[in-house]
Amino acid sequence: MNTSFTSTQTQAPSGSVQAMEWEERYGAHNYHPLPVVLDHASGIEVFDMEGKRYFDFLSAYSAVNQGHCHPRIITAMTEQAKRLTLTSRAFYNSKLGAFEKMICELLGYDKVLVMNSGAEANETALKLARKWAYKVKGIEKDKARIVAVSNNFHGRTLGVISASTEADSTEGFGPFLPGYDIIPYNNVDALEASLKNPDVCAFWFEPIQGEAGVIMPDPGYLKEIRILCDRYNVLMMADEVQTGMCRTGTMMACDHEQVRPDVLILGKALSGGTMPVSAVLADDAIMLCIQPGEHGSTFGGNPLACAVGMASIQVLVDENLADNAHRMGKIFRSRMEEIKTRTGMVRAVRGKGLLNAIDIDPIGSFSAWDICVEMMGNGLLAKPTRRDTIRFAPPLIITESQLLECCHIIEQSILKFS
Ligand code: PLP
Repeated sequence: MNTSFTSTQTQAPSGSVQAMEWEERYGAHNYHPLPVVLDHASGIEVFDMEGKRYFDFLSAYSAVNQGHCHPRIITAMTEQAKRLTLTSRAFYNSKLGAFEKMICELLGYDKVLVMNSGAEANETALKLARKWAYKVKGIEKDKARIVAVSNNFHGRTLGVISASTEADSTEGFGPFLPGYDIIPYNNVDALEASLKNPDVCAFWFEPIQGEAGVIMPDPGYLKEIRILCDRYNVLMMADEVQTGMCRTGTMMACDHEQVRPDVLILGKALSGGTMPVSAVLADDAIMLCIQPGEHGSTFGGNPLACAVGMASIQVLVDENLADNAHRMGKIFRSRMEEIKTRTGMVRAVRGKGLLNAIDIDPIGSFSAWDICVEMMGNGLLAKPTRRDTIRFAPPLIITESQLLECCHIIEQSILKFS
């Protein structure tokens, strides 16, 4: 430790260049950000340190569905921050029960277990599925298996990446947790074959694969999952961390096929992007498999998170953000189809609600990254998910005129490379 350390060493950076230098010099190199330093934001707009405005088309990977610094969420947060922020679960707190009641009633489950990050919520679901395997399904000790799909993304913890098929996520991090079977996504035959194994306790999947490039299953896939999980007494475990909370035009992406998973995993927009809040929902027969002392988190269910969570859900409902995502998504995709025809540089357009992506035709020396840098220069922020794919996921409060302005920026940026 530096004993001559003084507060002058914690001054703010002089501008974007210095802020980036400091991150590069002192921060671990586990991300490769676009070269823009964001300083403040409101609604769908973010501003860099020099005051330049950008439209946010990433929404912190769909955590900011309600828009940046939503006044009702910030008010709930600051009011609660002045009263009580953390008690640990050694004691009850006056906000947790209210949040639990609200989310269970809204989504139709008996119980919820509140955590912090999306990865933690997924870890919780994995542990819950294993407990259920032994206590309810009667699988022999330590034999439980969980079926996951290729190109999944459920977070970065070891239990989660043990089921990953991505080299970037796994290379050099072994040995991995055993007990996973990996099958292709969107393949009902492979799913049925895997669920026939009586040691399988859960099928774990994203209703739309966000990080993989907004990969959409065929219509009917979710319904088939439900049927097969019922047939083989396997838990249907949906990770809606990215697709949930109105992002795809319904409260949950599973709602598109009127399907109710046995275990529902949420995160991100549960706090409107203000702090980590995640949750796992299930009915009593599953959730009560976990007993006091068997799972937890110091911060999980803290009163600040609960106050923020309640306000965040209320905003989604009161502002009809599912409907808006549905309507704006249609307009967005039809404009992208026009751009595809007009420029010949877009290979595919896909998405649901306001979770969308385009594949850039890789002919030529430019990449999706180059287009994102160009869009940044033109005042719109998005990031490639895979080499040729750009995901577009603005806050769900976006208006039609803002959306059309943004589509124009996207078109001009792509045309720059023609
Ligand atoms: N699950 C899905 C579907 C995600 O998209 C993500 C993050 O992008 C996670 C889990 C992990 O969430 P977190 O980064 O909060 O751990």
